[in-house]
Amino acid sequence: MHTTASDGWPSPYELVDHARLCGLDVIAVTDHDTMEGALRAAEYADVKRGLEVVIGEEVSSRDGHIVGLFLERRVRPGMSAAATVHAIHDQGGLAVAVHPFWRTQRRVRGGPVHGVGWLAAELEFDAIEVENATPGFYLFNQLARRLNLGLGAAEVGGSDAHILDAMGRAYTMFPGRTAKALRTAIEKGRTIAGRRRYKAVGLMRYAAWGLNHERYVAVV
Ligand SMILES: [Zn+2]
Repeated sequence: MHTTASDGWPSPYELVDHARLCGLDVIAVTDHDTMEGALRAAEYADVKRGLEVVIGEEVSSRDGHIVGLFLERRVRPGMSAAATVHAIHDQGGLAVAVHPFWRTQRRVRGGPVHGVGWLAAELEFDAIEVENATPGFYLFNQLARRLNLGLGAAEVGGSDAHILDAMGRAYTMFPGRTAKALRTAIEKGRTIAGRRRYKAVGLMRYAAWGLNHERYVAVV
């Protein structure tokens, strides 16, 4: 999930409050190239109780977005996918190939930003995101599921929430209710990715969010 620390709309505090209302046990806060939102959310959740925050980062590697979970230190963007996965593992984190087949191009200068594609199969990822709740990602999710049929990595579902309505629209089920149990489930390949539909108002808010941010064009 994303917060105001990067391009999300909710503050870390709003995110935690809403996640508790949604009945989620564990959330991963993974802002683009920063851990600030995750650290604030984790502190706040500690005080509020009833919800655990996994500190993460969505790292902009040269080859596409890679999520690091259970991080201690920020992983710097701009490295190759292989070096990014290595840096995440080096500090004891888990590396997730998120929306691997979302191939996008920025309309503005700065080059393409996208998922890691087939590198998801070649590198030592701990999990593959096979459900991403961003509206319109059906095909990308199907491709990721196909890839993982052969790969057999742990599957995860991520809301990739940039707005509150997106929270819980894709999710990861695992035995237990704690961040530690989630980690164990990923390591043992016992996670199940799921998703549920948006309400119409949520889709409209997502459209509004999209208009306010840099436009990305999806190309397969
Ligand atoms: Zn991303």
